Amino acid sequence: MPLFKTEKKAPRGPAGRWDVLVSEEMCKACGFCLNVCPTDVFAWRTVTNRLGWFPAYTAREEHCVGCMLCYQICPAFCIAVAPRTGGTR
Ligand code: SF4
Ligand code: SF4
Repeated sequence: MPLFKTEKKAPRGPAGRWDVLVSEEMCKACGFCLNVCPTDVFAWRTVTNRLGWFPAYTAREEHCVGCMLCYQICPAFCIAVAPRTGGTR
C-alpha cells in the first residue's frame, strides 16, 4: 500500500462536523498533511513559526470529513481532529 494516494478521491463522509487543530509552533513543514488530505483542508502560512518553518494551518475546516489521515501521518504529532462540539457554526 503506497504511503500517499496518487489521486485524491471524493470524500465519503459528511463534511463540516469536525474540528481540525494544527499546533503550528510544532510544525516542521513536511507537507504530509497537505498531500494526504482528500479535501484540501490545509494550507501554508506565509510567516514562520518559532522553529523557522512556514507551518501548515487549517484553512478549510468545513471541508473535513474526519478520515484521520492527517492525524495518522503527521510526524510531529501536531494535528488533532475531533468531532465538533457546541453545535453548528
Ligand atoms: S481528517 Fe485530516 S486528512 Fe481527513 S479530511 Fe479532515 S483534515 Fe483532511
Ligand atoms: S504533517 Fe504535521 S509537521 Fe508536516 S506539514 Fe502537516 S502539520 Fe506540519
